[in-house]
Amino acid sequence: MSDQHYSFFGAVEKSFDKAAKFTKWDIGILGQIRECNAVYQMRFPLKRDDGSIEVIEAYRVQHSHHKTPCKGGIRFAAEVNQDEVMALAALMTYKCAIVNVPFGGGKGGIKINPKKYSTWELEKITRRYTAELIKKNFIGPGTDVPAPDYGTGEREMAWILDTYTAMHPGEIDAAGCVTGKPVTQGGVRGRREATGLGVFFGLREVCNMPDVMKKLGLTVGVEGKRVVVQGLGNVGYHSAKFFQDAGAKVIGLAEYEGAIYNDKGLDIDAVFNHRKTTGSILNFPGATNFEKNADALIMDCDILIPAALENVIDGNNAPNIKAKIIGEAANGPLTPEADEILGKKGVLVVPDMYLNAGGVTVSYFEWLKNLSHVRYGRLEKRFTENLNSQILGQMEELTGKRVKDASREFIMHGPDEVDLVYSGLEETMITATHEIMNAWKANPEIPDMRTAAYVVAINKVGTSYSELGIFP
Ligand code: NAD
Repeated sequence: MSDQHYSFFGAVEKSFDKAAKFTKWDIGILGQIRECNAVYQMRFPLKRDDGSIEVIEAYRVQHSHHKTPCKGGIRFAAEVNQDEVMALAALMTYKCAIVNVPFGGGKGGIKINPKKYSTWELEKITRRYTAELIKKNFIGPGTDVPAPDYGTGEREMAWILDTYTAMHPGEIDAAGCVTGKPVTQGGVRGRREATGLGVFFGLREVCNMPDVMKKLGLTVGVEGKRVVVQGLGNVGYHSAKFFQDAGAKVIGLAEYEGAIYNDKGLDIDAVFNHRKTTGSILNFPGATNFEKNADALIMDCDILIPAALENVIDGNNAPNIKAKIIGEAANGPLTPEADEILGKKGVLVVPDMYLNAGGVTVSYFEWLKNLSHVRYGRLEKRFTENLNSQILGQMEELTGKRVKDASREFIMHGPDEVDLVYSGLEETMITATHEIMNAWKANPEIPDMRTAAYVVAINKVGTSYSELGIFP
């Protein structure tokens, strides 16, 4: 098989079909689960700063309505096309199901390289795109809720919210029309780092499984693991940072302009700041430059985390991969051919649709916050602190001993918003990891973790569709 005529949606369908045979659902239900329910392709004009007119191509795909609203990020990239947005929307359906987020899958994309547009042009594009979504009822707290993805962030989400609110005056739940907003605009603390933190929690849980580590010839736990990360954007930066904080060594980093390594470990923030000042990660003090940025992918390491774009590991470079674990932080970084090669090599591929679900999980928390109109922790923080103080006081009085200051602070602390978001995410990722691993163990014929994850997702979406009575 060649990767030449690669279809991302085709790859998702292939993985789906591979898993479908391990489920009980008949072909009709499987067909309904698999297809994209609605594809909105649009064109609109942009008046550029130099006065010229450019026609912008954009998409929003709603893959599944088995639960509403639909949910999924908006990507700004020159490579955006319908096939890609359909694939990403489908992954969102399965992702939400795996982490028990009650949404259907959606995704948006605008075919632009954001680096080639001024801020004012980007604002006009984002606002016009939002207006097009409103016209077709493709956005709203109860219908379809976008979020950031590759090339977009809090700034774009704030523009979307402002456009939506301006066109829905008085709609009390309007803030829930988009997630990933700045905290001052109804965002939730912890959303920015959520996907990277979820990647860390998911991989940490896998690394804590003695049987899995034994099979890979690795020690249990994250500490000391040698990690390589591709992409120092939102997901890559935070994944790398949480691994470093937990005692792993990030020995290789790859960005658009090049890649660097240092066997002793790279300081993520120092590299990040070096890139900010020099415009490149290359020539970082103490590190060696790779000749090509893709060389970092084939570096000897324990965990490889591709966190840039899809399709970066294919039939050509897969045979040279030396990592024991690949954590798919990006969506679709492996082609099906690469997946097969790595499976045969005994590499554990921890699949995207579960591993990078931290973003949508915390987006769900943000949406709930918007609908409830109250910050997490506001009601219970002080009450919990007073209660803890009472319990501690009683314990000390009864035992005649005093708890150490560091422990005292920890015990007394009532939860802030970020504490609740982090612990909600941790619980979600741990539960999802065990659900997938248990499905895998329950059927020895399931060949890999990706197929096990699809089996879990298909079963949940299938149950949801059939219980809706769509298939009497
Ligand atoms: P981002 O734009 O913040 O960062 C991506 C980074 O990758 C950029 O710094 C870019 O320069 C770099 N990059 C691009 N091509 C590269 C290459 N060939 N080699 C090395 N680096 C390269 O985007 P992001 O939000 O971090 O998203 C990254 C991936 O994670 C995407 O696949 C996205 O779909 C997925 N994802 C993102 C989220 C989220 O919450 N942001 C959630 C789930 C999945």
